[in-house]
Amino acid sequence: MEFILPEETKKIPVDENKTYDVIIIGAGPAGMTAAVYCSRKKLDTLVISKDIGGQVLLTAGIENYMGYQYITGPELIQKFEEQIKQFPVALLIGDEVSYLSKNKKGFVISTNYGKNFKSQTVIIASGKSSRPLNVPGEKKLIGRGVSYCATCDAPLFGNMDVAVIGGGNSALTAVSDLIKYAKKIFLLHRSTFRADPVLIERAKKSDKVDIYLGYIVEKIYGKDRVESIKIYSKDEDTEKILPVSGVFIEIGLIPNSQSVKDIVKLNHLQEIEVDCECKTNIEGIFAAGDVTSVPDKQIIVAAGEGAKAALSAYKYLVTRKK
Ligand code: NDP
Repeated sequence: MEFILPEETKKIPVDENKTYDVIIIGAGPAGMTAAVYCSRKKLDTLVISKDIGGQVLLTAGIENYMGYQYITGPELIQKFEEQIKQFPVALLIGDEVSYLSKNKKGFVISTNYGKNFKSQTVIIASGKSSRPLNVPGEKKLIGRGVSYCATCDAPLFGNMDVAVIGGGNSALTAVSDLIKYAKKIFLLHRSTFRADPVLIERAKKSDKVDIYLGYIVEKIYGKDRVESIKIYSKDEDTEKILPVSGVFIEIGLIPNSQSVKDIVKLNHLQEIEVDCECKTNIEGIFAAGDVTSVPDKQIIVAAGEGAKAALSAYKYLVTRKK
């Protein structure tokens, strides 16, 4: 894996000696919107994120972000980035928050690259990541046939046989993407579909798609690249080996809340619990977007929540100073 040093992407220097008004963790739609709002309130703001864009970078087409009838995920993020760079926001991109702790004066944020930053408030907008299957062979073959993003990787599997795992909108959207390229698609799901009916219909109608319901994947085989998978049906007590060149794992997302789990309250899904003002259980820590308990994981919702979190942080700072 390529080793990328943290990049201080903008002219505004990143400073470990000062105490920021607000540190925003994450630079997806929630984090970037929060940054713009904080900056317009003249708050001294630092954003720390491993990338700019998060999950949106993996989204092919967006038709429900107001103002754009159609825009790709990377294009929308580019526009967000251009907008954020109009404001005096310090950006530390390429590093990740490893720990968040509280002291008498506020909060300390430690990063994977050993930096420590101080802040009076924190907005956590760290989003979600793909859920792994956790079966033998998966980790070893990531990028060598195992993919978590059909939107990105479908064109690499032209005229090949592939498997898609999952039964939600992500899996069925993956099938829809792959129909254009792959020779055969095995859609494997352990229970009943929960995807939108229109996507299920599309999969069922395609001659290219073979659906295996009630099956789980037990193992992914391959020396240098994916060669086959072992699947098992409990109901039928049947095991099968399917020769495939690609395995698309589309079984949902997990919140990026590990680094803050010791300080803020999480729900049973490991999402940060927030109220309608984006407040967490800890005064001075706010959260927004997909990492929170707000149910709808949508770009426009995340952006709106980012704005709310910034305004709440501002109100908190103003009332505390009085
Ligand atoms: P979901 O949580 O909706 O679905 C996850 C699927 O994966 C379920 O079918 C689940 O099965 C299965 N699953 C979970 N864990 C495992 C496991 N360990 N092994 C095997 N199967 C497993 O996630 P999605 O990523 O599909 O969607 C996330 C959100 O994003 C949803 O709100 C969705 O609507 C939205 N979305 C919308 C799109 C659109 O509108 N075009 C496109 C993509 C996503 P089970 O039901 O048995 O738990």
